[in-house]
Amino acid sequence: MSESSQQLLRQLPAIDRLLGLAAVASHPAPHVLKRGAAQQLVADLRRQLLTAAAGALPTDNELADRLLRLIDQRCRPSLRRVLNASGTLLHTNLGRAPLSAQALQAITEVAKGYSNLELDLTSGTRGHRYSHIDQLLCQLTGAEAAAVVNNNAGAVLLALTALAQGREALVSRGELVEIGGAFRIPDVMEAGGVRLREVGTTNKTHLRDYQSAIGEHTGLLLKVHTSNYRIVGFSQSVEATELVGLGRQHGIPVMEDLGSGMLLDLSPFGLPREPTVQEAVAAGIDVLTFSGDKLLGGPQAGLIVGKRWAIDKIRHHPLARALRIDKLTLAALEATLFAYLDREQALHDIPVLRMLNLPAEQLRQRSQRFLRRLRRSLPADQARLQLVEACACVGGGALPLTELPGCALALQPLQQSAAELARRLRDGTPAVVGRLQDAAVLLNLRCIAVDEETALLQALCQALQSATVANAFAPTDVS
Ligand SMILES: *Cc1c(COP(=O)(O)O)cnc(C)c1O
Repeated sequence: MSESSQQLLRQLPAIDRLLGLAAVASHPAPHVLKRGAAQQLVADLRRQLLTAAAGALPTDNELADRLLRLIDQRCRPSLRRVLNASGTLLHTNLGRAPLSAQALQAITEVAKGYSNLELDLTSGTRGHRYSHIDQLLCQLTGAEAAAVVNNNAGAVLLALTALAQGREALVSRGELVEIGGAFRIPDVMEAGGVRLREVGTTNKTHLRDYQSAIGEHTGLLLKVHTSNYRIVGFSQSVEATELVGLGRQHGIPVMEDLGSGMLLDLSPFGLPREPTVQEAVAAGIDVLTFSGDKLLGGPQAGLIVGKRWAIDKIRHHPLARALRIDKLTLAALEATLFAYLDREQALHDIPVLRMLNLPAEQLRQRSQRFLRRLRRSLPADQARLQLVEACACVGGGALPLTELPGCALALQPLQQSAAELARRLRDGTPAVVGRLQDAAVLLNLRCIAVDEETALLQALCQALQSATVANAFAPTDVS
């Protein structure tokens, strides 16, 4: 280290001096937060002095500016809003489905006061939290009974444990799904104390494969929807109705993990035909589980519908208490399910369904309008802007092969790299997540609500124009 650097190091400002700078002292943030930011600034300065050949310490004004930025960063909530311009409708890293206006209102209404979460208002006696969605779910799906827990992984664990603990469950080798993270069917079964008995092969499983594997220890026939992959070509799996027939014959219950679970047939919109929950119920499956926040478009939840005897067993299992759903989620879920009583209402109210069904031409017109606004707001030397063909996808482990045709804005920054721009967009308020492609950041408006466009425009202008952002804050990439 050079002598001049050593000298500079000795001149690093003391924490108390930084905290005493007028603009810092008058900032309303809690003292402990400001102190932490000041310590970070000193550490940053030290590192910069050690790595730079030579340099000068910033002036007091510069120090105050940098410190205020750090303080503001620390004042922002850690969990905050993101404008999803990635073109992936359901992304677990981005919190999956945005909620409908009705669901948001239901949350506010229930959150700000007390509720009848577990009180029967008619009799004044103890009620049950399942009662709020029980009838709706039965009406929508045709099932005899319903329950709901924290998420679908929990629903699968609970149902497996309640129905088959200590026994064997038969699963096709083509359906041993990994959902990402730690959710793998074989592991969940092990956690539930259920022995996995694999049947068939990866590409083909026949009814006779299940049949010949049934023995005295068999407690369950399990079907798992291959939500996030497809086995195509020379392949075969056993239909729900056939499996139900086999289960009946041997007195063995049949369960299906539907993954995303759809209540509407979306094939009229050119989307692939997926089995709906209603069809699975009609096939006679004893227990079905699916997610609340995938294609259903509601809050994170694990929905369980099926035969009364099986649902009773599940509701009364001790694990149900550990996995129980909270009142805010329940409020949002009830409002979301309510919209499904009318197909048109659901397509209109539920954001995920709206995004899914947005015609490419409408998306193009919106994107063109937005592009014109952006051109007007931005000096021409900042970026090259154009509209390019780009597909969106569903994500969240649903409709894995489906591409939603459309377009995206390609922003090619001229004063910084595309990666740098993407980082600044993520660091903005609100944060913006796009997709990097070559030298451009692609922004797909399919998942941007119309009333988010102005915020997006401002965030883009800010990220393109801000010369330097001190103290890079780089959250993990979302691919
Ligand atoms: C997504 C998925 C799950 C997990 O659901 P979560 O709601 O994320 O807990 C389980 N099984 C299948 C088949 C899935 O697609």
